[in-house]
Formats: sequence, structure tokens, C-alpha cells
Amino acid sequence: MNRLCIAAFFLLLLGCCQETVNSADCTQSATRDTIPLYAQALLEAYPDCIVGFANDSLIFADGSRMVFDDGVERSWLEMYDYCDVEDMSRLIYCDSVTDFCDPGRIRCEMLFKKMYGSTSQEVSNSTATIVWCPNIIGKKFPMNKVNHVDEQLQKVSNELDRHPEWTDYLQCSGTFNWRVVAGTNRMSPHCYAIAIDIGISKSNYWRWDNSNASETDTIRYHNSMLKEIVDIFEKYGFIWGGFWYHYDTMHFEYRPDLIIYRNMVRG
Ligand SMILES: [Zn+2]
Repeated sequence: MNRLCIAAFFLLLLGCCQETVNSADCTQSATRDTIPLYAQALLEAYPDCIVGFANDSLIFADGSRMVFDDGVERSWLEMYDYCDVEDMSRLIYCDSVTDFCDPGRIRCEMLFKKMYGSTSQEVSNSTATIVWCPNIIGKKFPMNKVNHVDEQLQKVSNELDRHPEWTDYLQCSGTFNWRVVAGTNRMSPHCYAIAIDIGISKSNYWRWDNSNASETDTIRYHNSMLKEIVDIFEKYGFIWGGFWYHYDTMHFEYRPDLIIYRNMVRG
């Protein structure tokens, strides 16, 4: 277990303490100190959608609320299938791969549907077209406008576009696609038009490399994606699927909450 996983454990304990404070003092004017650290990261990452925190709930711009921590203890596998908002902070996104840790693959479907759209049509209606690497690729793809994901991806694209030597790694095979994650009933982040797959000819996916393996099996890791490309995506709030035990090295997904939270934890 690496240092960040240990740090996550202590933050979990800290979160429990903060929950006690919140339940004793449940006011909308909760000070920053009484807001769990991961809720602070969400507020910082998605200020257009999430505008407050009170009574153990996130407050959205439309005035609606969502429970942050439902208090249910779930196994890792259960969290991949269903989780509350707080569960998304259980594994800290970091630049190394830890056995059976997939930080970012724990996704609270309720939160993503609330922010980005709950049907294919709703998501489609909130997308804008970006031109992916205008000079070296020049193809157009839809990306969600909510939380300025489209603008952030265009910034990634503009920076990558200065590197024709990376063209093979930058071929885009898709962004928005209303589908489940292969081999599961879970909604893919591609449903919300917040993810992009690139460089399929240079990439590795755990299911392709470990035929017949299930999520509970020990698997072999492979990667050919360039770290320089990963760094540029992270700079604009996108996490990389290559840091998952169940790796997906073509996959990048807009999750600034996890990057902000990691930086908070690191101090
Ligand atoms: Zn993907």
C-alpha cells in the first residue's frame, strides 16, 4: 500500500470527525473548516454546478441537494457498481499503479447525471464541437460544455498540436458515446461527453491484454502512452486511465476534483 493510500485512510478518519461536527452544526453557512476535504475539492472543481455544502449535502446551482456521504460501507467492487459522492475520494489519483486500485473508476452516477445530463439527448444538447489537434489531426468531436469541459479539452488539443512527432498517439477514436463500460452494467464516462480515447494503435487495455480475466484476478500491466501527453491532459483537469490497475491507456476523462483532491492531500 503506497503513501497516498495510507493518507487516504487517515483522511477517511478525518472525514468521519468532520461529519460529526456537521451533524451537530448543520447550517448552510458552514465554514470551510467544517466541509469535508473532498467536498471542498468538488466545490473548487465544478463551481458552476456545485455552489455550496450543508447538512452533509452538496448544494447545486438550481437549489437542489445531493447527499454527500450516505454512511454505507462498501467493498471496492461494490463501489464500482454503485457509490455515493464521498466514495469517489476513497482512492486517491496518483502517478503510480497500485494493486486493485482504480482511482477515478469509482463514479457516483447520480452526480454525473446531475451535472452533465441524464439521457443521451440531454447530454447531446449540452455538447459543443471541438476541433481536435487542428494542424496534425483536424477532426471534430463533441464535448460537454458544462463545467467548460469543451474549452479545457480544446486547450489540451492546442498544446498537443505543437507535436507532430506524436501524431500516432493523438489519433482520436471517440468522445461522446452513450454506452456501458465493457463487461459491466456501469455507465461509461463517455456517456457524459467528458472523456476522450486517443492513440488506439499505441494503447493497452486490461481486458485485451489479459483475456478471460475478471476484475478480481491478478493481471499484467502494459503501457505505451507517452508521459508528456499525460502531463498535458492533467494540466487541464483530465485524469488518465493508465494509472488504474485495470488500465485503459487510451482513456482520458475530465475529473479536476480528483487532481485538486490529490494536491490537497499532498499539501
Ligand atoms: Zn475511454
